[in-house]
Amino acid sequence: MTEDRLQELRGQVDEINLKLLDLLNQRAKVVSEIGKVHAHLGNTFYDPVREGQMLQALEMANQGPFSNETIKALFREIFRASMALEESQTKAKIKVQRKAPGERTIITMPDGVTQIGNSAFQIIAGPCAIESMEQMDETAAALAERGVKFLRGMAYKPRTSPYEFQGLGEPGLKIARQVADKHGQFIVSEIMDKSQLQMMFDYVDVFWVGARNMQNAYLLKALGQQQKPVILKHSFGATMEEFLYAAEYIVSSGNPNVILIERGIRSFEKWTRAGLDIGAVAALKLETHLPVVIDISHSAGRRDIAVPMARAAKAVGVDGLMVEVHPNPPVAMSDSKQQLYIQQFHEMMDALGELTVVGSGD
Ligand code: PEP
Ligand code: MN
Repeated sequence: MTEDRLQELRGQVDEINLKLLDLLNQRAKVVSEIGKVHAHLGNTFYDPVREGQMLQALEMANQGPFSNETIKALFREIFRASMALEESQTKAKIKVQRKAPGERTIITMPDGVTQIGNSAFQIIAGPCAIESMEQMDETAAALAERGVKFLRGMAYKPRTSPYEFQGLGEPGLKIARQVADKHGQFIVSEIMDKSQLQMMFDYVDVFWVGARNMQNAYLLKALGQQQKPVILKHSFGATMEEFLYAAEYIVSSGNPNVILIERGIRSFEKWTRAGLDIGAVAALKLETHLPVVIDISHSAGRRDIAVPMARAAKAVGVDGLMVEVHPNPPVAMSDSKQQLYIQQFHEMMDALGELTVVGSGD
């Protein structure tokens, strides 16, 4: 008798469990529909007022035996699960998000040979700013000797102070183009505003968005509406998630050729210019299929640690590094403390050559 009763009650519980399961999933589907409406309206998913109203209504309707506190705790858990579902569904729709292990975007340059995002470790190098034909040519020649294909040709400099050197502008781009063509290199150059796009288009091979412009949505959308590759820098005040959303602006506007460049974020440490979180970079490689490059110059802010920084970048499994090189750094018009002497650049390349990394780390 007691055993039969136990079986019967257990049967009832099993039945209720299935009903609850069905109701929970029904609820999840309705919440998912609500999420679509929110997304359409541009709202965030989390609505604390609505959540409070639902909990109040449940409290009023509750006739026990569960206490109101228990009911609220249980429903909060259900709300949380719905939010998590919404978030994971949204994430799955993000184009820059890696959908399967090993998925990668490989960008092929117009020569049909130079690639970034495959197993090659690419070097992007050159002076902080274009200063003269001689300065660019001497640097580019040294870089070309070591097979560097991506030459920094910065004509617009977003300096912290408006009283500092702002770059040579279009005459600088003319120098960069000439030098790059002479040495068979591609010009990467910073664009500061959408209005410069048309003029710069004929001079540059890769558009560069600096840290200060990472969240300039209009610029990002404009760069998404053309097909030249874009190097996007991580702002020193943004999370990795915000970084990926910035890249999403470009990719979702129609240009899949985006390279992410990490340059560290603001921290309290004074020995380096920015805090380069190597763990976050490794995680970034897992989260996105886009090529990732480490800027060892603006993160360090000094040239004496270039070799260990370069080794770390290669070892962590990113797709390349960016380094500033100048024929005479102490007299450079910008970032004179961190630009490498040409000799130091060769030492860095030698050190990288000695470092074999097996596997990409992602
Ligand atoms: C640069 O790389 O030229 C530069 C200005 O760096 P950031 O935008 O990271 O400050
Ligand atoms: Mn610089």
